Amino acid sequence: MSLCIAVVGAGVAGLSCAKALTQAGASVTVFEAHDTPGGRATTRKTELGTFDYGAQYFTARAAEFRRELEHWQAAGIVLPWKARVVQLADGVRPVPKAQDPVRYVGVPGMSALAAHLAKGLDVRLDQRIRRIEQVGHGTQTRWTLKRQADPLDPEGIEITEGLFTTVVIALPAPEAIGFLEAAPQLLAQVRRVQMDPCWSLMLAFSEPLSLGYDAAFVDSKRLAWIARDSSKPERRSGERWVAHAPGAWSREHFSDDPDDVRAKLARAFGLATGASIGPVHAVVHRWHHSAPMKPLAVGALWDERAAIGVCGDWCSGARLEGAWSSGRALAERILSGATA
Ligand SMILES: Cc1cc2nc3c(=O)[nH]c(=O)nc-3n(C[C@H](O)[C@H](O)[C@H](O)COP(=O)(O)OP(=O)(O)OC[C@H]3O[C@@H](n4cnc5c(N)ncnc54)[C@H](O)[C@@H]3O)c2cc1C
Repeated sequence: MSLCIAVVGAGVAGLSCAKALTQAGASVTVFEAHDTPGGRATTRKTELGTFDYGAQYFTARAAEFRRELEHWQAAGIVLPWKARVVQLADGVRPVPKAQDPVRYVGVPGMSALAAHLAKGLDVRLDQRIRRIEQVGHGTQTRWTLKRQADPLDPEGIEITEGLFTTVVIALPAPEAIGFLEAAPQLLAQVRRVQMDPCWSLMLAFSEPLSLGYDAAFVDSKRLAWIARDSSKPERRSGERWVAHAPGAWSREHFSDDPDDVRAKLARAFGLATGASIGPVHAVVHRWHHSAPMKPLAVGALWDERAAIGVCGDWCSGARLEGAWSSGRALAERILSGATA
């Protein structure tokens, strides 16, 4: 049977799955709700320079992912980030982190990874899929996708997309649930996964803070991580920082007014770093689902009967490497079913 596959979500997992399937000869269409691919591995452009306000960097452990990293390096879209990283706690001197892994970043921003993965794929942007609908039964089962005509209007009219043999759901676990009615065994597993939200703060300063480090794991109620974005390779010069609140604090303050969150996190940044000047730019972003509390460690989920697969960082060890590996694992399972 020739495979005609719809991938919902153009994050790293969806794109890595789509790429492997396309390379194997399948016809693949990727639907992405936003106007750029990348999902949580993204970069915001401002007049002061860019901010990686989701994934900060990535590490490469598994041999297969290290091979992919070599391709990315050869393509010039990834460089090591030689950051001076410390451990920070309120009122305590910064302690340098020992035995750090090599950290890699996309250049000129983390969004370069998705842009690279998306090359040569049929990626449809601004297409928010609302639900999938089964057409026919048994071996004749096909799927259509129902998308919002306006990606920002959940109540608006619906447009039908395609007739697909297979559907890949490449979304954070809580968002995947609504697509899995026809695959109850997958649904039961996906429901087990909880994901933390994360408030992210982007700061720019008119002068260098000269803190003596580029990033810190922070042990405080309101901050878990800060990084000098402008210390990453091939970024515009300047003093730009990104700060992330811990999952517990982000959950507790999930519905707070963004202005209050911004003020609280900017104060926490000042306290943790002892910065002597205030920012000239401070913006927050709320990630609904940033990281799985406990990833499933299954690689990917596949229901051959329904021809529905699910992938994402939460299936495979979390983080960017996990997302990429999960996409690959799902592609392998779909292809092995097709050739069996
Ligand atoms: C604040 C933060 C910090 C992080 N730091 C790091 C780090 O330092 N190192 C690291 O390795 N990882 C980090 N991560 C995790 C990393 O970003 C993720 O593991 C990885 O990007 C997940 O990719 P994914 O494809 O599984 O999911 P996502 O990136 O979430 O992709 C899902 C995609 O689906 C789209 N979508 C959603 N709903 C629909 C719909 N209905 N229709 C169509 N499209 C839809 C979304 O717009 C998105 O593009 C961080 C994440 C966050 C949020």
